[in-house]
Amino acid sequence: MDIISTYCIFKTIVKLNKNDMVVTRKIQLLIGDYDKTNKTYSVSEKNDDVYKYTWKELNKLNYNSFIVANKTTTELYKNTNALSENFVDNKENKRDNAYRIGLKIVEELKLDFEGYKEILNCVCRNASQKLKNDRKEIRSGKRTLANYKIGNPIPFQSQNKPFVKQNSDYYITLFKLHFKLHFGRDGSNNRHVIEQIEKNNYKFCDSSIQIKNGKIFLLLAVQMPDKNILFDKNICLGVDLGMSVPAYLALNSNPKYRKSLGSFNDYTKRRLSIQNAYERSQRSDVGFNGKGRKQKNKKIERLSSAEKNYCRTYEHRITKMVIDEALKYNAGTIKLENLKGYNKPFGKRNWGYHEYQTKIQQKAQKYGIDVVFVDPRNTSKTCSTCGCVNEDLDCLNKNKQMNKKREWVCKNCSTTLQRDWNAAYNIANSTKYLEK
Ligand SMILES: [Zn+2]
Repeated sequence: MDIISTYCIFKTIVKLNKNDMVVTRKIQLLIGDYDKTNKTYSVSEKNDDVYKYTWKELNKLNYNSFIVANKTTTELYKNTNALSENFVDNKENKRDNAYRIGLKIVEELKLDFEGYKEILNCVCRNASQKLKNDRKEIRSGKRTLANYKIGNPIPFQSQNKPFVKQNSDYYITLFKLHFKLHFGRDGSNNRHVIEQIEKNNYKFCDSSIQIKNGKIFLLLAVQMPDKNILFDKNICLGVDLGMSVPAYLALNSNPKYRKSLGSFNDYTKRRLSIQNAYERSQRSDVGFNGKGRKQKNKKIERLSSAEKNYCRTYEHRITKMVIDEALKYNAGTIKLENLKGYNKPFGKRNWGYHEYQTKIQQKAQKYGIDVVFVDPRNTSKTCSTCGCVNEDLDCLNKNKQMNKKREWVCKNCSTTLQRDWNAAYNIANSTKYLEK
């Protein structure tokens, strides 16, 4: 989840309550048209007049904002005492100041901002805010002046009723240009977010538009008042712990989504090196009369705690990533295998999955995400496409290449399945709940 930074949100505008969260959602926009007589929206055909006009205006805004942002930063830096120690932080003055400078630049360079004064204001304010935030570090030489690039998002102010619903589609009008929101497969459930804005449950904040690789994106900043209504309980994140990687994730809402977290290789290597050092120091000679024993014990103690610390840190890192993914995809439920008393293959038995599960539970609770446990039987062997249980997975694949990629072919429906993802996906879709 991206917590939006100073680029789009100003602390002076958005006052966050204790439980509030501001997140950004990236939604693709398609160029649209508005028929004034029929009061209907439509998507523009590629290369029709509206389409061309919209692109022309967007490119112009993109270019102009980039010029103004850079020049304003430089001018503010040169002209004002914004960098000096005794700078009086007068918000009103400074905002006006940045905007005045921006207007001057527009005039001098004969930039066309006609009809887009509001954007100019946002660009200048952003630049000024960024400069203010960086001030200390610029002064100490740790940072240089912000350098805006041409693809940087174009900021705009929040609107009261930003979206118009037509049939099941949503449209937005920005700077007199019309766009249709394109959700695609909507793996992160952006439609849900828009609906919540419609119902006034979420607040639309100052957002921006980004042009990237010939596509237009709305970087929508949303303030969510209560963390509990943020998640969709029907979106389940399945977590397969420790077969080839510490954690493999799948979403029931999106079969294309797959993510592996961590690496056993790095983990074991680091642990082994600590263990070796530990053994070496245990073996080392202690002087005849016991001299140096104290020193040696100290060292052993230190190494033993170093290993423990490393494991703890690693667990925290992986489990945090699991929660971050759940947040990112709006998943209100995390599904884990109940491995109690179950004889899983080597990887799972000898690896502290219990610690991981406990940490996931603790972290999920903070966000109001449910954690449920499902039956671990056959999660790896069941084909997620047809449901057939393939006994003896290891014999199914004699193909070396496929074994390397950990793939197998279902003997019933001939689907090629990635072993880790298939297991995680089965967990995400499982309804065989078990109490823990
Ligand atoms: Zn199958």
